[in-house]
Amino acid sequence: MKSKNQATLVLIKPDGLKKSLTGNILTRLSETKLEIVAAKIVCVSKELAEEHYRHLKDKPFFGELIHYIMGDLHNRKKVMALVYWGPDAITKVRQLAGSTNPEEADPTSIRGSYGRITTGGVYENVIHVSSSEEEANREIGLWFSPEEIIVNVESGSYKEPKPKIKK
Ligand code: UDP
Ligand code: MG
Repeated sequence: MKSKNQATLVLIKPDGLKKSLTGNILTRLSETKLEIVAAKIVCVSKELAEEHYRHLKDKPFFGELIHYIMGDLHNRKKVMALVYWGPDAITKVRQLAGSTNPEEADPTSIRGSYGRITTGGVYENVIHVSSSEEEANREIGLWFSPEEIIVNVESGSYKEPKPKIKK
């Protein structure tokens, strides 16, 4: 049976950008043969950071995590946001990313290869990846507006190009 097409959010976090890992991470993700259907650089607001990580708001590391994703720990106030799309996208990307704790992650995974735990205790694991379809849909809606995504995620069809001329 053919697997269902899914969309999943990937964020290259500020440590990934500071360590010049963008190329390496995108090369690793290309092993999935999934398609990139949206991409941009984002300066992350406190509101977006808190909404993205709202499931962790009661954790003792929440404040530090918000500083981390906003780039305050790396003097890099940006993340790269991408939507990957294709069969079983969520599981495929999550497997390549590796476990949340970079010391427990498979050493050949992205987090196992490039992540670290700070002396403050935050897992600097270089990428975020959605962990379920429900989470992916919520997160993609937070980070992207529909017109920034070149496929219709629901129907799986490509959108018509809109003529856009910048003045
Ligand atoms: N995190 C952390 N310590 C923990 C758990 C999570 O620093 O004990 C950070 C880590 O950067 C992680 C993020 O919080 O990627 C979000 O946590 P989640 O449990 O959603 O893990 P993920 O889905 O990113 O694997
Ligand atoms: Mg998560």
